[in-house]
Amino acid sequence: MAYDFDLFVIGGGSAGVRCARVAATHGARVGIAEERFWGGTCVNVGCVPKKIMVNAAEYGQWIEDAPAFGWDVTGTGFDLARLAAARDAEVARLNGIYGKLLTGAGCTIFEARATFIDPHTLDVGGKRVTAERIVIATGGRPVRPEIPGAELGMLSDDVFTLKALPKRMIVVGSGYIALEFACIFRGLGAEVDLVYRADLPLRGFDQDIRAALKEALDAQGIRQHTGRHLGRLDREGDKLLLNLQGGEAIEGDAVLFATGREPNIQGLRLDAAGVVCTAKGAIEVDEDHRTTVPHIYAIGDVTDKLNLTPMATAVGHALADTLFGNNPRKASYRNVPTAVFTSPPIGTVGMTEADAAALGPVDIYLTRFTPMRHTISKREGRKTLMKLVVCQRTRKVLGAHMLGEDAAEILQGIGIAVVMGATKEDFDRTIGIHPTAAEEFVTMRTRTREAGVRAAAE
Ligand code: FAD
Ligand code: NDP
Repeated sequence: MAYDFDLFVIGGGSAGVRCARVAATHGARVGIAEERFWGGTCVNVGCVPKKIMVNAAEYGQWIEDAPAFGWDVTGTGFDLARLAAARDAEVARLNGIYGKLLTGAGCTIFEARATFIDPHTLDVGGKRVTAERIVIATGGRPVRPEIPGAELGMLSDDVFTLKALPKRMIVVGSGYIALEFACIFRGLGAEVDLVYRADLPLRGFDQDIRAALKEALDAQGIRQHTGRHLGRLDREGDKLLLNLQGGEAIEGDAVLFATGREPNIQGLRLDAAGVVCTAKGAIEVDEDHRTTVPHIYAIGDVTDKLNLTPMATAVGHALADTLFGNNPRKASYRNVPTAVFTSPPIGTVGMTEADAAALGPVDIYLTRFTPMRHTISKREGRKTLMKLVVCQRTRKVLGAHMLGEDAAEILQGIGIAVVMGATKEDFDRTIGIHPTAAEEFVTMRTRTREAGVRAAAE
């Protein structure tokens, strides 16, 4: 049967755009549908506008620290409207670029929702479209906790339409989004209450990083309510009252629920195609990103594997190369570097101490120091922590973790070494760049402790 397209991609976010564009450059006839905004979450309500707000928050600290370096400056206030205008203009620019990239590569674009009619046929904004292969790249969306009054709170998307900075902000959760926005709001001048269920923020990250982050949040005046579970959210006049289980209540001007995201499968009519989801609602795929229907694939956040933009684009690119570029390959989910843009930021790649120690004996190298800038600025709570997790048997660096200024930039390079399987001795024979914080990664000579010895003996 002749299909309208060789490939149809549903969703014009990081994963879908890369897959569609690369497939088209390989010569495939490609259609792509996007119902909301080209570039998806990352460009419009994620990484890009968030990072601009991170930068804005950092300026406040630079202004405060400048007098210690001889500068005569005063910050007389922050204007969210001015930042929002600059941020939104950049988002609009990138958004346009994404659309142009697709048409430039020869894709046919549809600004509409796509819904399955049958395994090879889609309804795209009222038009019937057929394709030999279909890729689902519909991403994820934020979820509210199931408590009374949850609708009174904001989700991360809403941060980007705020007209004024709330004076007192309550942030719920302690994952990437909660922590990044807690630091942004605090950095811009709001009072921030951070409410979470665990004892330490960032479940799943290395324990030393989590503990150091908790201290850093305290030092910048973010009030942390740990081990707390939500009760209900009430409006009282123009204030919100977040009631926690056990009787405590926190008052604020706005509440941000950063309590996770779920795969975006609503309205796709997956049943019409026979595509099966996991119990958590993610599209089930094999290691080639094939769904339960052999000619239908799923990539990016909708598969809920590792919900990061570079992962989504890598998988989309590999799939296009495999299907149309005569270059079968997979993007690896191992040793993916990642950063949390808190203040200070976190960068990490590879295994945590706990995960590595569960597999066998490891040597831990850890250093904590005040970066040179803050020996002058005297800013409290800006200690840097760096840590290497090294396999005792192979001497390979299994994990590298950092909390401190420029952590995201530094860990990208360290990530290459870890992906290549560098040993601690490779790190040691690398000459440092002086004076930097990064040089500590190649000058940690004394083992701090060993771990995992008992696990290995058992
Ligand atoms: P998306 O980018 O969500 O794209 C899916 C697209 O599909 C959407 O545009 C949607 O409108 C469209 N769509 C859905 N259903 C249909 C349909 N039926 N028909 C047509 N179109 C449809 N990651 C990082 O690596 N670094 C960061 O700093 C970072 N910061 C983030 C900050 C925030 C606040 C958030 C929310 C996320 C952040 N992420 C970050 C995660 C990153 O944004 C996602 O991992 C990435 O966008 C996933 O890409 P995707 O293509 O799978 O999905
Ligand atoms: P996460 O899954 O990272 O964190 C969700 C948080 O919400 C956790 O602290 C969790 O607590 C808490 N939570 C969940 N349900 C409830 C509830 N009912 N009541 C109270 N707390 C609850 O999700 P995020 O939304 O922060 O981010 C989604 C993903 O987006 C990230 O995992 C990441 O992949 C990506 N992202 C990446 C960024 C980056 O690269 N810098 C930035 C932003 C997002 P608990 O830990 O106790 O389960």
